[in-house]
This record gives sequence, C-alpha cells and structure tokens, in this order.
Amino acid sequence: MQRREFLKLSSAVASTALLGGGLTACSEPAEWQKMMTEAPAKITPTVCNICFWSCAAQVHTRGSRLWKITGNPTDSHSEGRLCTRGTGGVGAYADPNRLLKPLLRVSKGGSQSLEPVSWDDALDFIGQRMTKIATEYGPEHFAAMVHGAGAQHFLHLARAYGTDSVAEPAFAQCRGARDTGYFLTFGQGLASPEQTDMENARCVVLIGTHIGENLHNSQVRTFTDAVRNDAHIIVVDPRFSVAASKAHHWLPIRPGTDIALMLAWMNVILAERRFDAAYISTNTVGFDELAAHVAPFTPEWAYGETGITPVQIRETARLMAMAAPACVFHPGRHAAWWGDDTQRARAMAILSGLLGIWGQKGGYYLPEKVDVPSYPAPPYPTPRTSWRDLTLKQFPLAGAPVTNVVLEHSIGKDAFYKGLLVYETNLPMTIPNGAQQLAQAAQALDLIVAIDVQPSEITGFADVVLPECSYLERYDGLRNDAEREPSVAVRTPALRPLGDSKPGWWIAKQIGTRLNLDAFFPWNDYKEVIDWQLNQLGLSLLELEKTGVHYFPRKTPVYCDPGTIPRLATPSGKIELFSATLQETGFDPLPRYTPPKTPPSGYYHLNYGRAPQHSFSRTQNNPVLYQLMPENVVWIHPLVAAQFEISNGSYVRLLNQDGIVSNKVRVRVTERTRPDSVWLAHGFGHEARGLVLAYGRGANDAALMTRILYDPIMGSTGMRGNFVTFRKELAV
Ligand code: SF4
Repeated sequence: MQRREFLKLSSAVASTALLGGGLTACSEPAEWQKMMTEAPAKITPTVCNICFWSCAAQVHTRGSRLWKITGNPTDSHSEGRLCTRGTGGVGAYADPNRLLKPLLRVSKGGSQSLEPVSWDDALDFIGQRMTKIATEYGPEHFAAMVHGAGAQHFLHLARAYGTDSVAEPAFAQCRGARDTGYFLTFGQGLASPEQTDMENARCVVLIGTHIGENLHNSQVRTFTDAVRNDAHIIVVDPRFSVAASKAHHWLPIRPGTDIALMLAWMNVILAERRFDAAYISTNTVGFDELAAHVAPFTPEWAYGETGITPVQIRETARLMAMAAPACVFHPGRHAAWWGDDTQRARAMAILSGLLGIWGQKGGYYLPEKVDVPSYPAPPYPTPRTSWRDLTLKQFPLAGAPVTNVVLEHSIGKDAFYKGLLVYETNLPMTIPNGAQQLAQAAQALDLIVAIDVQPSEITGFADVVLPECSYLERYDGLRNDAEREPSVAVRTPALRPLGDSKPGWWIAKQIGTRLNLDAFFPWNDYKEVIDWQLNQLGLSLLELEKTGVHYFPRKTPVYCDPGTIPRLATPSGKIELFSATLQETGFDPLPRYTPPKTPPSGYYHLNYGRAPQHSFSRTQNNPVLYQLMPENVVWIHPLVAAQFEISNGSYVRLLNQDGIVSNKVRVRVTERTRPDSVWLAHGFGHEARGLVLAYGRGANDAALMTRILYDPIMGSTGMRGNFVTFRKELAV
C-alpha cells in the first residue's frame, strides 16, 4: 500500500457539520422576503479575498444572514464597485461543500480515508509530528507553502518554529521573474497593485497581459481611462483578447518570441535616435553596450521570428517614443513563460529605461506604503540550513523559495524536507507538475497539513486537513500595499464561522501552543494585534471598523521632476541597461533571444490565461460564480478545427507531448487565436470529488504542463513550453 493515497475527498466527509440556517439560503422568495423584512441591515467592513487585489468592501447582513457584498465607496482599489468575483464572494460563504470539521487520515482494512476529528486531536497530532521532526532532524527540515492575506500567520509560525522555507507560488509561478528583471534594472520590483499610471498615459503597451479578462478592479478602470483618453493601445498577444479589441495595434505574435520583438523595438528607438540623450547620459549606465547589442536586431530580422511586420514594429516603436515619458508597459503578473523570463522582464524594463518613464506621469508612478510596525515578539531563531542553501546554487538570484524546488527536496527517503504545511494554495492545480511531485513527496514526508476553506485537490494529499473559515468570518492582517495613496484597510468578521471552521490566526496560534511557542503569540485574539498596530499610527480598530479604509498623507512626491529619477537601489544608483550583476553571476548582462521550440507536427502551443468570472482554481465551486462560468472551453482556430473535423461546441480531450490526456473540454472555434496555438482559461478540470459543482468540469491546463522551463537566473517555472493535440475518439 502507498504511504499516502490521493483521496478524492467526498463532500459528505468534508461538510460533516450541519449547515443549518447560517447560510444565505435565500434563493426561495419567501425566505428572501423574511430576511429583508424581519432583520435590520448591518454593514461590516472587509477586504475581498477572492483575488489578491484586496479591494475594500462592505458586507451587508440581516440578522445572522448574509445579504450582499458591495465595494467600499472610499477605497481606491474598488471605488465602491466590486468586480464579478468580488460580488460573488457571497458564494464563498454559502458554498455547501465547504470544509467544516478537522479531518485526519486513517488507515482501516488496507484503505485510507480522511475522518472527522476534534480540533484538539488534529492539533495534537500536528504538534507531535512537528516536534518529532524538529527533534530528529531540526525545524529547518519543515517547509510551508502559503498564499493570500492569511499567509502571514503561517509565515510567523514557521519562522518562530525555526524554518525560513516558506514558499509562495506567487514567486516562481507569477511575479518573481518580472520583479527580478525590474530589480536588476531599477533596483526594485514592481508593486502590487502595479504602479502603471495608465489614466495619464498617452501610450499603453500590454505584452501578453489581458486586462479585462484579468479582472483587477482599479486596473481595469485605469485601462478604461486610457482607452477613453484615446491613448495609443498596443497589445501583443497570440490571442485577440478583450484588451486587443480596444487596441489601435494588435500584434498577434508567434508564441515565445517576445524578446525578439522588444530587441527590435530597442533597435528602432536607438537607430532613429528617438530617446532623450541628456536623460540617458545622466540616469543610465550601459547605453553603449546596449546600442552595440541591439544593432543586429532589426525589424526585418524580428519579422522572421515574431511574424510581426517591420512596418508594424517601426510604427509601434515610434508611437511609444513619441508618447514618452507618458508611455507605460504593463509588466503582467503571471510572468513564468518560456524559461528566459527574467531576461524577458529585463527587456521590458530596459525599454522603460530608454523611454525615461520611471517615476514619470503617464509611466510608472512612485508608490508609497504605510510604515505599520510589527507586533512585539521575540526574534526568530536562525535556521541551521536556509532555503537559500538549497536554492541559490541552482538559481543564484532567486529572491524567495521556489515551490517546485521545495517539492523536489521533499521526494525520497533521504529528502531534506520531512514535513509540509500548505495554506490556501491548491498546489496540484497551481504549479506545473504539482500533482506528480506531490504524489511522490507524499510517499516520504512525515507530515502534510492542508489548511483550506474548501476540499480542493491539495486536501487529498494531507494527513490532517484543517478547515479555515471564509474571509467573511474572520480578521486578518491589515491591508497595506505600496500604492499611489498610502492606506490601510481592515478585514473584520461579518458572520460567525460556520460549523467547526476557524480563522487562520487562531489555527496558527494553536499549533504554536503545541510547539511551546506561546511567546510568539502573546495575545488572545488577533484583533488585539490589529488594534495595537493602529494605535501606533494614531488610530484604533474601533475607528477603522467604522470606515474600513484610512488614508495617510504621502511623505514623498508621486512623480519625479521631468527628466530625473531618484537615486535607485542598483549598484550604480542609476538605471542599469547593462547589468554587471548578471555578468558577475555568469548570465547575459543584456537580454539574449533564444528561439522557442516549435510544436511537433499536428501539435499546437498550449496557451492559457484568466477568465473574469474566476480566480485561479479557487472559485469554480463557488455556487454564484459557477453559474456564470461552469466550465472552460478550448479556443481552436477554424483552420485547425477543419483539419481535425472538430465542430464548434463539440467536446474533445487534449493530449500533450508527454501523453497526458485532459478531461473532456468543449471547443470554441474562433479566429481569435493563432492557427499554431490553442487557448484555455486556467483553473478548471477539478478532480476533488468534494467540489461537487466543479468536479470533472473542463480541462486542467496545469496537468498538461509536464515540461517545465526553469529560468536559470531565479527559478521561475516557465509553463508555456507545452504542446497539445486533440483526441476526438475519446470525445463524449
Ligand atoms: S478585483 Fe474583484 S476579486 Fe479581486 S479583490 Fe477586487 S473585487 Fe475582489
């Protein structure tokens, strides 16, 4: 028998507690009338947790029932309006498949199952296993994988326990490469929300990012402002996205050739001397090396690589230069593409440097955040072995642990890691090869803990599953993002936790108690921490609970003076067009273009992206959002559909280059994708039976990503190097 079998947790086990009258349950008109007339309305401030944009919101309840969620009118992230998903947050609370009891893996008669247990039993089990790992190997042999606003509670727990191996898929799977590229060029990564000053831009360039389907509230608004202001919109995408439909220039690029296009844009800008020579001379280093580097990469050369005509390349480069410095490149958030992702981000950052947009109106504004002090606690112990010791030899400029590397070091009986805690991140559908790596790691690890709101795929690998309550039922840390207007916003509970679910802060504290770490949790309730932090800022929780958001005056200007930059945190203090850091670590100091692999005959590039109704693989079982988009569809060009005799609306399965076959997925035949590519919305094709609505619906793109293209500089896991064909004979 396997040490741990993957358990497709049933909804009956997951939701053992009686749901009862706590849910909205207002689909019946009579119930709705009763709620609206019998109980007065109450508004409670929260911060939306359906995606990381963290819009401040207001939860409207009547009695013990949830009525609706609206945007906080004073919030700059939402401006009083939530996106589709944020409004559908009611479904996160009302999902009948929620986890409501702690579960423990038990073996009976040769088979394994997850059985409901008390919190004490579950926490004691975790405490004993973590203590054993710390005693036998050392606490640094334990890793955590976290995501979202509640992650800070488990980061704190891990550091107090004695490990710094806390990985977020947000690094290697999303923003890490982009931030490394910008860091090498400007001495800092980009903020979240991104500091793109689109509302004041005269030219907006989107390379692979599809704002509108990528529905981040205030970002969509500022992009709309740019469209309304008739800014030149340039969209580079193999797919005719919603953003492309608003563009003056849609460049349907051959997948994997972005760097070639950007080198050609630099070539035009330099050859035609469309830059501010005084700015370049004062604020940058490496101009001569860059000029020599890009000289061969003419638009005519790039045409052969990208499929974009020399006329289009020249015209768009000139538009950018004419608009500069009011020209902004959106860097995208999911930047793990082709294995040369830091260099791709570097190319974008160098273009930004050449056009002088850093800190300029219409370019990148300078974000600022509130200096919120940490609640007093003892210093963390120093791990004997850091994640850096395992990672930097392989990826010298990794700024954070790489999720796939942590999993690689969890496989086999001699593996470094012996235990894993996973908080609110569904690894099997989030990281490439995640399910396969987890299945192998599960045969050796001494402990796997999953903390989640719903019985997603990760819970099937766990020894212990801990049910967290939804974001509408808990406090979390203050929202404090670097942005145009520094602010803090607060998430407070609008409803009592359903069943036996508990807030993340409570779970972290209780595990800490089992590990004799009470000194790190010297409070009874997390609202004491929030109140203390607000007191240091001259506020109180009582006050913030009235408004939800509080703004602070900026300490520094939002823009630099024209033609100037602040001193940057690069080695030279200037914009590094040529990176000595990359050269010293053995990498190309200027972006080098490597042609991508082309698909085998009969195969197509597998491209993927977002749908505006869903976030990652977290919302497909949300009963509200499910109704808006119950399954994904695969976009196929008419020429390809004709070749395979596939009709619009029929179902196929996708077969990747390594023989992996997807769930059945419906076909959309459309000219909006290139003939060499297919496109899927990410997050569908769930295999966890506990997700009753989402189970088996659509195709899981992550399962088809068996080829990972690691970025050698920082470990980003490129996921665009996979190809698929169609299995019509298995269609249903
Ligand atoms: S963008 Fe939408 S889902 Fe994301 S935090 Fe804002 S309202 Fe919520």
